[in-house]
Order: sequence, then C-alpha cells, then structure tokens
Amino acid sequence: MKEFNKGEVWLVGAGPGDAGLLTLHAVEALKAADVVVHDALVSAEVLDYAAGAELVLLGKRGGQPSPKQPEINARLIAEAKAGKRVVRLKGGDPFMFGRGAEEVLALVAAGVRFRIVPGITAGIGGLAYAGIPVTSRDVNSSVIFLTGHDHTGLSPEGIDWAAVGKAAGMIVLYMAMRHMGEISGKLIAGGLAADTPVSVVMRASLPEMQVLDTTLERAVADIEKSGIGAPAIVSIGRGNLLREQMAWV
Ligand code: SAH
Repeated sequence: MKEFNKGEVWLVGAGPGDAGLLTLHAVEALKAADVVVHDALVSAEVLDYAAGAELVLLGKRGGQPSPKQPEINARLIAEAKAGKRVVRLKGGDPFMFGRGAEEVLALVAAGVRFRIVPGITAGIGGLAYAGIPVTSRDVNSSVIFLTGHDHTGLSPEGIDWAAVGKAAGMIVLYMAMRHMGEISGKLIAGGLAADTPVSVVMRASLPEMQVLDTTLERAVADIEKSGIGAPAIVSIGRGNLLREQMAWV
C-alpha cells in the first residue's frame, strides 16, 4: 500500500453506502487520515472507518443550501498546506458526477500532491444491489450515464433526449428525481416506448434501500404514490426486467 504522506490529499470514492464496498486503498486512507472532508452522501457506516480523523461535512446537496465549490477547494488546500493527511471522501466514485476533476485541478494549481482512489458508483454497484445488471449480452451492449440536472438545478440543457433513447439499451440517471416528468416525457416523445421498464433504486446498498419498478409512462405517478425519493438511481431499459429473477437482497 502506498504511504499516505503529510500534506497530501487523497480523493477517495466511498461507494454507494455499504461499507463492504470500500476498496482496500479507501480503508487504509480513512484509517491514516488526519482530516476527512466528506459529502452528504457518505454513509455513517463508512465514516466509522475514519474514527481517528476530524470529520468535516462539505458537499453539494441538490436543492439545499450548500457550500460553493471554491470554498471546498480552498479548505482542501488549506488542510494540506497545514501538513495534514487529507481525505476528500465522496459518495460512489469521485469522477462520476462528483466534481472530482474540479477539485483535482484546484490541487494541481495549488501544487498540492494528491492520489485518486476510485470507488464503486451508485449507477453500477447500486443497481447491482437491486438485481439490475447495467449490461447483459442478450439485452443491451451499451449504457448511458446521465445527470438529471446540471449546475443550475434545471434538467440538463443541450441533451438530445431522442438521441439518448436511441443510443443505448440502458439509460442510468443520477440526480433525476426532480425532473422525472420532463425526462420521461422527452424520452417518449423521442421514440422510446411508453411501457419501457423503469426502476428507481433509493439508498442503494443500505439497509433502507427501496426499489420501485414502473414504466416511463407511469414513473411520475408511481414515484409520487410510493413516496420514494432522493438519493435514488433511475435505470431505464429492458435489463430492469432481469430483477424479477436476480433481485437478491
Ligand atoms: N459520485 C456519485 C454520484 C454523485 S451525484 C457516484 O458515483 O455514485 C449524486 C447522485 O448519485 C444522487 O442524486 C443519486 O442519483 C446517486 N446516488 C448516490 N448514492 C446513491 C445510493 N446509495 N442510492 C441511490 N442513488 C445514489
């Protein structure tokens, strides 16, 4: 295992929640860290591995007041320059809709040494906990990962939803709960069948995990009825049907 030196920042993926999904590098880093700057999605179970470190919650939270990115970058740089071993801990994988790249570029600009520890992303590992394979040979050979809203909080501008619907047999949406009506409407208008299977997996891999199986057409009404909410991963495609046989939790 590489030594965690003072003054370094390790950007670490925490996985979707179940601490068993941490990598060995992540566990070593959490144990050695002086300070762990984590986002709101990191589970308590994972933070237990950082018992010896100062914990700082600094992360963006959809729809809630949250720290500005420059503030987070400045904190990471300041902690490193104070000679600490700093873990920047992010839910899932740091580079999957996690602003990991922005933080690394800020470290580079400030001359701070860093290491990247990838994590299991909710859109693959979280779905696996619901018995949904993101690819399977008989169903789909491509998959698209999309964010349901951009930095403005609106659904992403400039996405050609008709093209998205045609491009991949499986669409995996992050941060999409607020815009499901708009997204499903645009996918149907773009040519996807109204009865295309949709699964919504809330708090994947955690004891509170809930899964809703619905269709593009019924998604919004069923989400409302079920009370399922963020954080949730939405998968769209026939691969969801494998859940009937493969759900294992
Ligand atoms: N870097 C993270 C994603 C950050 S964006 C990753 O790789 O997983 C935040 C979004 O991730 C949430 O809105 C939700 O869509 C998804 N997400 C993260 N953890 C989740 C979990 N345990 N269950 C369901 N969705 C999750």
